[in-house]
Amino acid sequence: MDFFEKLGKTLNDAGEATVQKTREISAVTKINSQIAQQDKLQSDMYKKMGKMYFDAHDEAGDFDPEYAECFDTIRESMKRELELKQELNVAKGIAICPTCRAENPMTSSFCSSCGAPLPGQNVAG
Ligand SMILES: [Zn+2]
Repeated sequence: MDFFEKLGKTLNDAGEATVQKTREISAVTKINSQIAQQDKLQSDMYKKMGKMYFDAHDEAGDFDPEYAECFDTIRESMKRELELKQELNVAKGIAICPTCRAENPMTSSFCSSCGAPLPGQNVAG
């Protein structure tokens, strides 16, 4: 083999190695994506199971004591979320109708949807 034949073979080998490497990366990416899907599925099911357990035991409070911290944290978070939603309504100048939950301008005295009187206590501020 002369120099150019050797060079050609070397370049060809490098090309095949590149193709092989690309195939490997593609397979790894595909498998990683499938692993991420399985992780997400498990997370979703854990979340669903936790929500089911919470919903089944929150009202009666008959959950195992080992879950007390989780129940407390979730309850506190729900309370805080409600406060934040109320703050958001104030920031947006919206009054939620207590009867039909329709959004009304904070300046309205009556709901534009059902006509119920709107509490005006949020107007101040
Ligand atoms: Zn209404």
